[in-house]
Amino acid sequence: MKKTILILAVFYSVNSIAQQEAPKLTEQWQPEPPVVTPGKTNADAPSDAIVLFDGLNLNAWEAAADQKPAKWKTDDKVMTILKGAGAIKTKQKFGDCQLHIEWRSPAEVKGEGQGRGNSGIFLMGIYELQVLDSYKNRTYSNGQAGSIYKQLPPLVNASRKPGEWQAYDVIFTAPRFNKDSSLKTQARITVFHNGVLVQNDMAIWGASQYIGIATNKMHPEKESIILQDHGDAVSFRNIWIREL
Ligand code: MG
Repeated sequence: MKKTILILAVFYSVNSIAQQEAPKLTEQWQPEPPVVTPGKTNADAPSDAIVLFDGLNLNAWEAAADQKPAKWKTDDKVMTILKGAGAIKTKQKFGDCQLHIEWRSPAEVKGEGQGRGNSGIFLMGIYELQVLDSYKNRTYSNGQAGSIYKQLPPLVNASRKPGEWQAYDVIFTAPRFNKDSSLKTQARITVFHNGVLVQNDMAIWGASQYIGIATNKMHPEKESIILQDHGDAVSFRNIWIREL
């Protein structure tokens, strides 16, 4: 009888130690995620971001066509497309990234459809996240603000009024290619428009095309980000990026 009680006591104590230890089996302690100081608001660049435009100058940018100095207007902490100056691109090249960019379509409404406050953010120079004044301005769904142009319509239209600042927060995964230059995995994108999810880890079909279906063609692991000059005086501010 005494022996049985002893065995039971040992069994229960071992069992209770096992129960105490059990939660630890699924705890991962290493590696410890590095500490990053967040900005005062979600729009402010965190400590490990590369600031692409802080309102002072266009030093991080150059003309997309000829690598000459970017000619867009900078004024009052804002850069604005100078019609005809052409697209601008980042001097630095990026692949997988988190991008924050704020934009504003002109307060004075001119044109309609694709002709109103049109610009675009071309990730890796070829995948266009559309910038458009889509406030009460119907156009094709996969061409409105928050769309991946001519491919993926946004989940919702989270547009603010023309003349008001809007923000995109983007998580982008570059495509991967095989050694024989065939596509291994498509580019993927998540986009928040003014804090609202509009692209949820979507696969991008390929390089944006105005006419025809997008196709994938091998390109380097990192490329410049291009901002489009579509002839409308769209402004940008507070642009920062984190490489992933
Ligand atoms: Mg565009």
